[in-house]
Amino acid sequence: MRELIKDKKRIVVKIGSSSLQHAQTGDLDYIKLEKLVRELCDLRNQGKDVILVTSGAISAGKKAVNIKEIKHDSPVEAMAVKQACSAIGQARLMMVYQKLFAEYNQVAAQILMTKNTIVDDLNRFNAKNTFCQLLNMGVIPVVNENDTVATYEIEIGDNDTLSAIVAALVGADMLILLSDIDGLYTDDPRKNKDAVFIEQVDELTDELMNMGKGSTGSNVGTGGMNTKLIAAKIATKSNVDMVIANSKDIGVLHRIMNGKNVGTLFVAHPDESFNLPVFVDSLHKK
Ligand code: GLU
Repeated sequence: MRELIKDKKRIVVKIGSSSLQHAQTGDLDYIKLEKLVRELCDLRNQGKDVILVTSGAISAGKKAVNIKEIKHDSPVEAMAVKQACSAIGQARLMMVYQKLFAEYNQVAAQILMTKNTIVDDLNRFNAKNTFCQLLNMGVIPVVNENDTVATYEIEIGDNDTLSAIVAALVGADMLILLSDIDGLYTDDPRKNKDAVFIEQVDELTDELMNMGKGSTGSNVGTGGMNTKLIAAKIATKSNVDMVIANSKDIGVLHRIMNGKNVGTLFVAHPDESFNLPVFVDSLHKK
């Protein structure tokens, strides 16, 4: 299975907020960002289509205006602060990406999405066309949720899910989630030393889906193991293989693409009855 990854043509890579910043200060880790961009540009140079789904807008915005924690008596006010921070941070983040991609002679573009981008037929059609056109032009789309306008009703909520949605929308054949964990374990390895690492998941059983429920992951981004398993469900049902791997060494990206046995591989299981807009519409409604 791993050898087959070498031939993948359209790759979506997701990186989480905690992987992009220094744990001690919350400031952007430029060395990691630079390595990430170099890896992506190298994939592009191999003739592959590359899409980056990046978090980090809200935390970069908070840093810029010196807000440590978004805490307000009124949730409406807290939401407004979060939205304002994302507006500030997204522009900052994009500026850094643009600069780094330009250094390697690649063109990057920004796409911001909400739930409506997928649920609404016209929006989805337009988004897909834009992605495909950018990829035809050899451009690398850089995607995030449009946190500036996304409220509870229209938010996807986390970028693990968003990246799988993007992979399904554009007909990608590979999704790589770079996170602060090595992959999937039978239990939380931070709490249970007997937890066993799972190298490959051939089928997403209910038992497996339930395993992620209690996990919250790091306290920086939004995703934990639960959102990664939801991403795996969307991806595998849409005929996309997915790997979860640790971002502590960004070089893991080319090792995965060279067929090396790193991270957890979720093998695609196309399901004709899977309906992306219906599934996305159901998110958060349960
Ligand atoms: N969209 C959020 C941001 O850019 C992050 C969501 C996530 O961590 O999954 O800050």
